[in-house]
Amino acid sequence: MTLKPAPFGPHFGFGLYVHWPYCARICPYCDFNVYAAKDRQGGALVEAIAADIHAHRPRMPQHRPLDSVYFGGGTPALLRPDELGAVLLAASDTFGIKPGAEITLEANPNDVLRADLQGWQRAGVTRLSIGVQSLRDAALAFLGRDHDAVSAAEAVRRAVKVFDSVSIDLIYARPGQSPASWESELTDALALGAPHLSLYELTFEAKTPFGLAMKRGDIAPMNDDAQADLYELTQSVTTAAGLPAYEVSNHAASPKYQSVHNLIYWRGGDWIGVGPGAHGRVSVGGNRYASEAERRPEAYIANVQALQSGWSNAAQLAPLEIARELLAMGLRAAEGVDLRRVETVSGTPVPRDKIAVFVEKGWAEMAGAELRLTASGRLLADAITAALSP
Ligand code: SF4
Repeated sequence: MTLKPAPFGPHFGFGLYVHWPYCARICPYCDFNVYAAKDRQGGALVEAIAADIHAHRPRMPQHRPLDSVYFGGGTPALLRPDELGAVLLAASDTFGIKPGAEITLEANPNDVLRADLQGWQRAGVTRLSIGVQSLRDAALAFLGRDHDAVSAAEAVRRAVKVFDSVSIDLIYARPGQSPASWESELTDALALGAPHLSLYELTFEAKTPFGLAMKRGDIAPMNDDAQADLYELTQSVTTAAGLPAYEVSNHAASPKYQSVHNLIYWRGGDWIGVGPGAHGRVSVGGNRYASEAERRPEAYIANVQALQSGWSNAAQLAPLEIARELLAMGLRAAEGVDLRRVETVSGTPVPRDKIAVFVEKGWAEMAGAELRLTASGRLLADAITAALSP
């Protein structure tokens, strides 16, 4: 008798997410778990992160080795190479890191210009994700960034000379942005030669300075139709340039440059989340657990010291929660999702009559049991997911 592979878990990929919560300054649109770098708990937090990685081991004895490590934040490029190395050593001692694993470091342009890039490489980093956000000075000032367009472009040119794998983040659908100006900015970004782009629409999250300004009526977000037009334009410009979307917001020059780490999220793999506020998903014994570490750095450090794990907040997910997540995350990716995985977990069929309507409208395609959204369907991914969700 052959055992069916589980519909989620580490055989869909196994990663480590490290959240470094400090930034040189806090951007007005940001709703991540971030703190000003002047309040930094440096060495103690690095030690707690390493201890947290070790402390995960007894709960997941079968997991090894890691396909990816992702240093996100915050601004993890503020970590020194020896601190990055200490975290990676804890990861390789505990779980092992596969040869050729993807090790990503998020960095802002000024970090890249100041950094010893070879030092990052020697520490183990294989991929840089650079928070360019815009290549126009007025937009960078509006977004509260501390770099200008010339330094952003220079940082990317510098990075691609050293790293084979470089990603640029850009924010579009900014208030008042015209299709022509976005097309010209995106074309400039593509000319920098990075093989991966993450292109996000500006959002106005409650409690951020931008969210509060919107509530007061001081900033008006772009309307939905204009945003949809810019999304369509983004698809055509990036596809023509050879970097089609492989997920709602992510574009790569070839499968080689797709983010191994993010594919773990979209495919229903496992990842450990360490560092303040980090989320994780870990599958053990046919169950799936969602973890969320303490958000404040001092509380995180104290929790790891007291309980030997940030995983203390882990909760077992109910089958319906797992199935909904598999569907929602899978439909974000261009490769789509095998509905049998969703149905095995939920115990209920995904309604084929609704899918037929989406196929008819050109928003979705079915191949056997695989459902995937087209480029225009991904624009409606949230609504389609809600309609099909068990
Ligand atoms: S640098 Fe990035 S993580 Fe830090 S505040 Fe700005 S947007 Fe948020």
